[in-house]
Amino acid sequence: MKTAQVYGNNIVIKDVEDIKLNNRKGAVVKVIGCGLCGSDIVKFKHKIVHDGAVLGHEIVAEIIEINSETDFKVGDKIVSSHHIPCFECTYCRHGNYSMCKHFKETNIVPGGFSEKVYLSEEHLKNVAHLVPKNISDEEISFYEPLGCCIRAIKRCGLSTGDSVLVVGLGSIGLIMAEGLKAYGYKVYGCDLIEDRINLASSRGIESFNSINLDEFSEIIKSKTESLGVDAVFMTSGADKAIDVAIKTIKMGGKILVFSSTPLSSGYPNNEIYYKELTVMGSYSPSPKDLKDSFDLIVSKKVNVSNLTTVYNLNDIQHAFDDTVSNKIFKAYIKM
Ligand SMILES: [Zn+2]
Ligand SMILES: [Zn+2]
Repeated sequence: MKTAQVYGNNIVIKDVEDIKLNNRKGAVVKVIGCGLCGSDIVKFKHKIVHDGAVLGHEIVAEIIEINSETDFKVGDKIVSSHHIPCFECTYCRHGNYSMCKHFKETNIVPGGFSEKVYLSEEHLKNVAHLVPKNISDEEISFYEPLGCCIRAIKRCGLSTGDSVLVVGLGSIGLIMAEGLKAYGYKVYGCDLIEDRINLASSRGIESFNSINLDEFSEIIKSKTESLGVDAVFMTSGADKAIDVAIKTIKMGGKILVFSSTPLSSGYPNNEIYYKELTVMGSYSPSPKDLKDSFDLIVSKKVNVSNLTTVYNLNDIQHAFDDTVSNKIFKAYIKM
């Protein structure tokens, strides 16, 4: 079977031995397609993974071999995520599933950018779902990324009608905004790239260029009775994004940190203190968040259509390059 492996600054297609179920529980699936996640880009660019690693975790796939207590059978088209919490450790008991050791250690094998993948029984039981016919492969590939957004939205604990600013309108920022809209919040967006601002606006998310921060914060004030927004969701990894948050947030508001920034940056202590701000992080979804994401996509309550650019596995290097250079919005790799 063909896999896409990381080697230094390149993604190389390698032929490896077919994955087989042998006597294990779980399933072997034929990957139909896999979304390219921002976290894959970070791992690739910052060389966090070793040579030979197979990235990708946003898979849509067909079961070709199975030995499971679940109702899944050969021929089923499913969507699955990659990590599963133990539900028992101190992190899990406090709802911080993505901090769980088991969560971090579990994965799909060898990775989503592969013609075939092994899913354990735990995957099938907790994070896999049957894909209904009314939904396209590309749309349902947003199951895991939207799940991350749903976790962040639920974690923030806003009230209906609250105003939210999404800083950064890349693919994750846009689906975050779509998710927030589905939960009934008043959503604004900002970015520095005009194409992204226009795309978000065309989808009903009132969006602005934040290059002139004073001007932009005045716009936000004019929309919020001079108060600022109830929450800022930080999907941009730029240092400057922190200034945008501080300038536009309401006193007592919440800043939801959803991306890494360069190590030098941080949140100003006195702003947090005097404005009684809450700064909280949100990383990766629980099985329940994923189920909510699945339902929102299938019911079309969250619009994830027309966001992907499709590449063949052989062309995956271009998908990475075009994503890094912001030429495209979100890559979907077809096997
Ligand atoms: Zn992802
Ligand atoms: Zn745990």
